[in-house]
Amino acid sequence: MHCHVCGHPISMEWNYCPNCGHKVDKSKFLEDLKRVRDELMHEMDKYTTLKVKKILEPESHVYVRGDNKIYEIIMPGVKSRDDVDIRRIGESLEVRAIIGNKMYFKIINMPRDHYVVADDFEDNVLRLHVQQFD
Ligand SMILES: [Zn+2]
Repeated sequence: MHCHVCGHPISMEWNYCPNCGHKVDKSKFLEDLKRVRDELMHEMDKYTTLKVKKILEPESHVYVRGDNKIYEIIMPGVKSRDDVDIRRIGESLEVRAIIGNKMYFKIINMPRDHYVVADDFEDNVLRLHVQQFD
């Protein structure tokens, strides 16, 4: 937290800024706290497994097209790419999508020199275009 007048770092317990002497505006601090809390709750809501009752491994296919490998992940009920979360974790790629109380969850083994160069989503199918770089 910082003084709203001079920007000096201050502690929540203080009533006055030690630098400029202005009264510490705690309402603003509480507003910030509330906003951060709301954002966190929203994030947790998105990823919490509490409301996810069922975890499904989506059907998937891999095929080769030119230099690319295409991973097709079929997730019925998922409406848009925005609902799909793709994360690179070490040598694997995690794909997840939550719809209602179920979550599609897929881990794809992906060596470090392989990269997702493009992805698209159409008719419940996510396509990851993966290429190997030296
Ligand atoms: Zn101050």
